[in-house]
Amino acid sequence: MCGIIGVHDQERAAEMAMLGLFAEQHRGQESCGMAVSDGRRLKLRKKMGLVKQVFTPELLAELRGNIAIGHVRYPTCGSATEFNSQPHTVETLSGPSFALASNGDLVNYQSIRNDLESKGVYFASDNDGELLIKYIVYQVEKCGKSIVEGIKSLMENIKGAYSTVLATREELYMFRDPNAIRPMVWGIRSDGVVVAASESCALDILGIREAMEVRGGEIIVSGKNGVIKDSVDAEKLRGVKSFNHCMFEHVYFSRPDSFHFGENVYRVRQAIGQQLAEDDDCQADMVVPVPDSANFIALGYARKKEIPYEMGLIRNHYVGRTFIKPEQTIRDESVHQKFNTLPFFFQDKRIVLIDDSIVRGTTIRNLIRLIKNSGANEVHLRIGSPQVKYSCYYGIDTPTKNELIANKLTLEKIREYIGADSIKHLSINKLRKTVHKPDDYCYACFDGNYPIKPERELDREKYNDS
Ligand code: SF4
Repeated sequence: MCGIIGVHDQERAAEMAMLGLFAEQHRGQESCGMAVSDGRRLKLRKKMGLVKQVFTPELLAELRGNIAIGHVRYPTCGSATEFNSQPHTVETLSGPSFALASNGDLVNYQSIRNDLESKGVYFASDNDGELLIKYIVYQVEKCGKSIVEGIKSLMENIKGAYSTVLATREELYMFRDPNAIRPMVWGIRSDGVVVAASESCALDILGIREAMEVRGGEIIVSGKNGVIKDSVDAEKLRGVKSFNHCMFEHVYFSRPDSFHFGENVYRVRQAIGQQLAEDDDCQADMVVPVPDSANFIALGYARKKEIPYEMGLIRNHYVGRTFIKPEQTIRDESVHQKFNTLPFFFQDKRIVLIDDSIVRGTTIRNLIRLIKNSGANEVHLRIGSPQVKYSCYYGIDTPTKNELIANKLTLEKIREYIGADSIKHLSINKLRKTVHKPDDYCYACFDGNYPIKPERELDREKYNDS
C-alpha cells in the first residue's frame, strides 16, 4: 500500500512530484521520499511523516532538477523506519546513478535476495524496492546489459507486484509487473512533461487529463529522445491470458476520482452498492455509509433501494485511515478519535450501515455500538465485498490469516460480536458484475486463488508490521 510518482522533464520537477504525492497521500502516511536529478547528480530526501510536513518550500528549494521520482509509504513489509522508506538509490563505480520507487510486494523476495547476496550484493534494508534496484544495477554493472534489458530480466525472474518508477541522471523509466496487480498510469502534459503515478488523481492535479495505463510488462522511457516504449511478453510470463488487477483497489484503496484498470473507481463503487441492494429485502429508514470509502457504495445501494441516503457518521479527517495505521493499539484508539454520530439523527431509526470490507472487525464493532448508543433501533450491516479470508501477498496490509475475523468466526458469530441486527456481504459473482473485464482481476483475499503462488506462507518476520 504505497503511492509512486515520476516526473520528466520540468525544471521544477520536485514541486510537481510533491503535488502528485500529496494527491496520493491516502496510499501511505508513514513516510515519504523523493529523488531528484539535475542532470549531474541525484539528490535523495526521505523522512517519516506526511508529504506537506516533509516537503516544505525550503526542502523543495534544495531539490532543483528536471527529473523527480517520489514515494509515499505504508509499510506492508519491512519495518516502519526511514531506512525502509523509498526511493532507494545506488551510485555505481562506472558512472550511472539510479533511484527507484515501487508499489507492491514481491513473492520470491528471499530467493532473489539470497542469490544476489551470494554474488556479493549488499542490502541495507529488507524493502522490496531495494531488491528491485539492486537487481537492475547488478544486470547493468555485472552482466553488461542496458537498463531496459535489466528490467526485462527482472520481469522474467522477480515475481509479484511492482508498479515502479526508476530515475537515472538523464532518464525516467516506468514499468509494471506482467500481472499488472497494482495500478499505474502515466500521461503527457501539453508542454511535454511526462508524469507517471499510482493513480490518475495525481495526474489530474498536475494538469494531465488523459491518463494511460502502464500496461503489465510494459517499460516506458522518457529521456532526451522523447518517449520510447518496450515490453516483455507478459502473457507468456503470466502463463494465462488475463491480468490480475487488485479488486480491493476499487473496493477500498483508490480514490473515487481515479481511473484505472479501464474503470472509473466512483462508478465501480456505485455498481457495488447497486449489486448489494439487489435481492436485499432489508426494511430500513435510512442508508448510512462508513465514510469515506463506503460513501459511493452506500449511494448506489440507497438509489437502488429508494431509501434516503444520510451522512449520519461524522468523520474527523485529520486522524488518518484506520486500516493503514500499522499497530493494533493505534488502530483501536483511532476508531474513537475518528468518528462521531449525530444523536438526534439515529433516534428510533432502522439503519442500513454500509462498509466496504471487514478485516479485523474492530472498527465496525465500535461504530455499531456508537450508532446504537445514539438511539438507533436496528443496525443492518451491508458489506461491499465478500468476506476477507486470505492474506494479500501483493502489497496490501491484510494481516495474517488467523488475524482475519472471517477466519476465526462464522458469519453469525461475527454478527453477534459486532452487534449488528443482520449482516450481508456482496458475493464474488456480484462483485465481478461491477467491472467490464472481471477475468482481469485478482480476488485472492476472498477466495484464496492466488494468481502468483507465494514462495512461502505470509511471514511476519518479513511482514512485521501487523
Ligand atoms: Fe488485491 Fe486481495 Fe488480490 Fe491482494 S489478494 S491483490 S488485496 S484482490
